[in-house]
Amino acid sequence: MILKNRHNNLEIVFEESLLKEIETIAVQHYPNEFGGFLLGKYSEDFKSVVIESIILPYKYKASPVLFQRSTKDLEKLFIKEYQENSRYYIGEWHSHPNGSTMYSGTDLNAMIETAESDEVQIKNPLLLIISISKKKMQNFTFYYYSEKKLFAYE
Ligand SMILES: [Zn+2]
Repeated sequence: MILKNRHNNLEIVFEESLLKEIETIAVQHYPNEFGGFLLGKYSEDFKSVVIESIILPYKYKASPVLFQRSTKDLEKLFIKEYQENSRYYIGEWHSHPNGSTMYSGTDLNAMIETAESDEVQIKNPLLLIISISKKKMQNFTFYYYSEKKLFAYE
């Protein structure tokens, strides 16, 4: 699947099986929100990014309307993905049970904090929000973060 965004030239490329994997994990956590990290690679010209895998947090806070992940104890997993597969952090994902894929004010603030933290090397992390019901994914939206704003991919 290839997605484009009117606000920038960065294409997002991913396999549907990855989205399916995210859906399955999110549904298991219903009615709570759940999420994790997106890993992949940028093309040499930085015009596309391929999402290849996810990492799930060990520590998090979750409710039907909240998800806060921690990066605690994940360092080894990120290093392994980099050394073995040349994949690195490109963004975040979380679910909205019985909700829309629109980001909340809390989501935007979390992205601002993430993008400005020393933990993250990239300036434009992606955010994937999937809306789910008890049984399956209803919809998904990718967002591109830039200068304290989120821009949706169609
Ligand atoms: Zn959210």
